[in-house]
Amino acid sequence: MSELEPWQWSDEIWQKKVNKVRAGRPLVPPEWPGGARAAVALSFDSDHETNELRDGGASIGRLSWGQYGVRRGIPRIKAALDKADIKATFFVPAVSALLHENEQRMLAAEGHEIAIHGWIHELNSILSYEDERDLMFRSADVLEKITGTRPVGLRTPSWDFSPHTLKIERELGLLYDSSLMADDDCYELLDEGEPTGIVELPVEWIRDDAVYFNMHRFHALRPYTPPDAVYDIFRREFDRAYQEGGLFLLTMHPHVIGYRSRIGILEALIEHIKDHEDVWFGTHAEVAEYVSNLGDE
Ligand SMILES: [Zn+2]
Repeated sequence: MSELEPWQWSDEIWQKKVNKVRAGRPLVPPEWPGGARAAVALSFDSDHETNELRDGGASIGRLSWGQYGVRRGIPRIKAALDKADIKATFFVPAVSALLHENEQRMLAAEGHEIAIHGWIHELNSILSYEDERDLMFRSADVLEKITGTRPVGLRTPSWDFSPHTLKIERELGLLYDSSLMADDDCYELLDEGEPTGIVELPVEWIRDDAVYFNMHRFHALRPYTPPDAVYDIFRREFDRAYQEGGLFLLTMHPHVIGYRSRIGILEALIEHIKDHEDVWFGTHAEVAEYVSNLGDE
């Protein structure tokens, strides 16, 4: 757009960038459903094989890693949720949903939410408006066809939110987005200053299992955080959300959290949260629905 260096920009240029998509009014209820003090929304990004396909790859090894999420990750997650009678949100790329239709149908039938997570986990910011729009609409259609329910929310793959994403979310008539980071608690998204009615359920790398564990054989990427340390970080995030009466939202991945040495993090966290009687567990759609009705009176 501009050949100028950032320090040469006119005020208009940096103002336009910053105001493109912005956090508007906070959506923090005085209390949560049932008089609860805090809300918990657990999400699982079922990337599965798209972890490899999205980069154009065909590595048998990396595809098998994706399949682990299906074979072992999802069943362990489901068992942990079932034991505590919690409904969660699964963000599923359309290709992943087409590869594992029964998984989506089973989860949806049990009351979990299936929401949009791109077509093949593509990066939105490198797409044209037309391509991004086409993929997002087709993704919504695929999920609706498989589960029988039209999705109401989107998490952009890799949280990569393009300059067109919000416009397309509005065209799709979505209730919420869960890809941005301007707060701990929900807020309304502003489109160049204009309130959109779309609820942001903010994410953070801190509250994401992948950053603590994911490694890549051919890159210099070797994080390894001990499970107890990850549990401790997540627990601190929840404890302060509880103190403040806010939202605790956690992003996990079946092929990351689903291992024998790691699923205990989720189980222990659920147990810790359940030790508090006045906590409400909602799907992302339920949270968005609840807070979007604030201030309407
Ligand atoms: Zn993902």
